[in-house]
Amino acid sequence: MRSPIHEYLTELLQSCEVVQGGAPASYIPELAEADPSQFAIGLSAVDGAVYCAGDAEVEFTIQSISKPFVYGFALEDLGPEKVWDAVDVEPSGDAFNELSLEPETGRPMNPMINAGALATHALLLPGGGVDARVERIRSGLSALAGRELEIDEQVYHSEMETAYRNRALANMLRSAGNVDLEPLQLVRGYTRQCAVRVTTRDLAIMAATLSNGGVQPWTGERVFSARVVRQVLTVMTTCGMYDSAGDWLSTVGIPAKSGVGGGIIGVLPGQAGIATFSPPLDTHGNSVRGVGVFERMTEDMGLHLMSVP
Ligand code: GLN
Repeated sequence: MRSPIHEYLTELLQSCEVVQGGAPASYIPELAEADPSQFAIGLSAVDGAVYCAGDAEVEFTIQSISKPFVYGFALEDLGPEKVWDAVDVEPSGDAFNELSLEPETGRPMNPMINAGALATHALLLPGGGVDARVERIRSGLSALAGRELEIDEQVYHSEMETAYRNRALANMLRSAGNVDLEPLQLVRGYTRQCAVRVTTRDLAIMAATLSNGGVQPWTGERVFSARVVRQVLTVMTTCGMYDSAGDWLSTVGIPAKSGVGGGIIGVLPGQAGIATFSPPLDTHGNSVRGVGVFERMTEDMGLHLMSVP
């Protein structure tokens, strides 16, 4: 039987199909091949009930949506001080791949831009190799999804072929003394992190784990402490949508993270996780239709966290 939530998501998907514009990420050759018509919405309540519409079982690469989760793994594994020493929590207002470090401290501005995500990745398993770090991340993301996730080797190799900018960032971090890993090894690990394959359904339940204070609704596993979730949601709110974070907070008003694979997650603390998938991106690297869906949901359901009832 179709629930009213399912009916709503189906209607929402159909009405947002008219939203046009944008193009799949072209700087990663394999992503440029994505089918621009694929479109999905998923919503998971904190009790683990998941509602989906459209192509919610299609797999695509998680890309930057991995960043808040890996930030959470670093906070869990190393504690807040070590993470804070390596990466700040200030919105940069810059593009996701901006070549920048804080002038005074030499730290990346926040863990959502690539510089900060590379520095965060490097924190995991000190003394371990690329494979150990990637496996920490793959298994952690799998615990959030409630199923074993895999790495898309084709997308990984494709991104490595053109990863000059991320290599520049890793070299910049190394020369500033922020990381002690060999820069190319760091980019390899980070690029594998971004190439983990997920579905819209997976992302909805992963977001719902954050909504649920860090406990995966299906397995009951505590993946993050409540304090870590608070910190992850804070940086998602201020920095998750990069240089359109202010616009997003004004119009949608919930913690979120986008990825150049076409996914976006949004978190309603204590209530639900929401995910969308549509490959065409705007100039900030955010899914055009995904932004449209979230804007409509906020209007329809009064999701904005700052709205007073
Ligand atoms: N792997 C991508 C990159 O580093 C992730 C970027 C993104 O999703 N915004 O360029």
